[in-house]
Amino acid sequence: MKYNRILLKLSGESLMGNQGYGIDPVRLNSYAAQIRNVVEKGIQVGIVVGGGNIFRGLSGAAKGFDRVKGDQMGMMATVINSLALNSAFEAIGLPSKVFTAIPMFPVGYPYSKWEAIKALKDGTVAIMSCGTGSPYFTTDTGSALRAIEIEADVMLKGTRVDGVYTADPEKDPEAKKYDKITYDEMIAKNLKVMDITATALCKENNMPIYVFNMDKEGNLEKMLNGENIGTLVY
Ligand code: UDP
Repeated sequence: MKYNRILLKLSGESLMGNQGYGIDPVRLNSYAAQIRNVVEKGIQVGIVVGGGNIFRGLSGAAKGFDRVKGDQMGMMATVINSLALNSAFEAIGLPSKVFTAIPMFPVGYPYSKWEAIKALKDGTVAIMSCGTGSPYFTTDTGSALRAIEIEADVMLKGTRVDGVYTADPEKDPEAKKYDKITYDEMIAKNLKVMDITATALCKENNMPIYVFNMDKEGNLEKMLNGENIGTLVY
């Protein structure tokens, strides 16, 4: 396969499926099955999941919550999603381990780069929760950081659309998909695929990003087989 070790970023919203809130078990199990499939082929998988299906610090702040507390609530939401994934993996016999950037053992194990790599080498999926562990960041930045730390070959960003477009394809029917785009171009054109902090971190550390639609079953494996189903940011 094209890569040996990947960091997969799943948004909280994608876990919500067709529901307006929370976790859709059908979507959760579909992700779990796709991930098991690639782990069985020898790929080492690290995962960072968002929390937007449960709570976002910024929208909390808009409702009058303290921003830092709101962000801490958001980070707790990523822990909830990580435990849900952990449980879905366990149900299908796929070994996985939840790490938390904010210590909260026994909910998860305190995150350390070396413990995460050790798990990956054993064929265990490392689910790294709480994003970066700090407020004012996003889980996109958390996944860029973890991808670099665990020395992943690529950061995969699973979204609802199948790549980076010239405009929002859900709003503009004329929007065209890029096969490849540079970090600088993505920032200059203000294409809102990832926040600038996350993109800049990947650029500085030469971490390629692959944006693709994870909701189409089989896409994860196709991507790893080298099929051009999304957009490479380099
Ligand atoms: N968050 C944070 N620091 C981080 C990562 C996340 O404070 O390093 C908080 C932030 O409030 C964010 C929420 O957790 O709104 C959920 O993460 P995010 O919005 O990135 O989730 P997604 O959009 O991917 O579902």
